[in-house]
Amino acid sequence: MTQRRGLLIILSSPSGAGKSTLSRRLLEWDESLSFSVSATTRAPREGEIDGKDYHFLTESQFKRDVTEGEMLEHAYVFGNFYGSPKGPVESAISAGRDVLFDIDWQGAQQIQNSDLGKHTLSIFILPPSIPELRRRLEGRGQDSAEVIAKRMQKSWDEISHWAEYDYVLVNDDLDATKTRLKDIISAARLKRIQQPELTDHVRRLQMEFEELK
Ligand code: ADP
Ligand code: 5GP
Repeated sequence: MTQRRGLLIILSSPSGAGKSTLSRRLLEWDESLSFSVSATTRAPREGEIDGKDYHFLTESQFKRDVTEGEMLEHAYVFGNFYGSPKGPVESAISAGRDVLFDIDWQGAQQIQNSDLGKHTLSIFILPPSIPELRRRLEGRGQDSAEVIAKRMQKSWDEISHWAEYDYVLVNDDLDATKTRLKDIISAARLKRIQQPELTDHVRRLQMEFEELK
């Protein structure tokens, strides 16, 4: 009936809790979801593709984009810059497509405090335990022991922002977490503010109601 307005769906978690895995599952579930490909100054990990996983930029390219107002939000995380390019988000949202963000608490705060904040759904993913978080980081096999130690040290910084999110999920069983995420997104899509054409629909109902008199 109505054309929806797109949602900005933010997933945050300490590194290793599972948000990239969950993002991939969500994108498979609903092909109309688009993923906000972040820009970063960190080096690509093995298998990461420029333009798909991240836009890999030099520090000067990144800073130029920030200065020119091309980033919706940006932050310094684990010694590198990360940011969400604004253009693709604005076009997806105005076409009624939801955009998924895998970003940290600093980026989540910036988007929630922006003009787009009222169209934002924020979800924090917690690990079942800290030893399990370490096991997942080690099991991923993508980072050196030194990088893993740095990420573990920083994980409390991220977790300490859990209460700033609309929803908080403990990612114990992957399938169960994915199901909960799908339920949350399906409900958020039906929020009144996401359905601008409801106003016209109710006006039509009112006219039909008047005709009954
Ligand atoms: P993040 O994006 O939050 O850094 P990843 O999605 O890369 O985390 O997940 C880290 C590792 O944990 C990956 O190897 C992934 O397969 C694994 N993982 C994710 N969720 C679960 C889960 N619920 N149970 C067991 N392993 C998981
Ligand atoms: P990784 O290097 O493991 O891909 O990401 C490290 C951290 O940076 C993760 O917590 C991830 O969510 C965050 N991150 C990735 N892209 C962005 C972004 O565009 N903005 C912000 N603020 N954080 C990001």
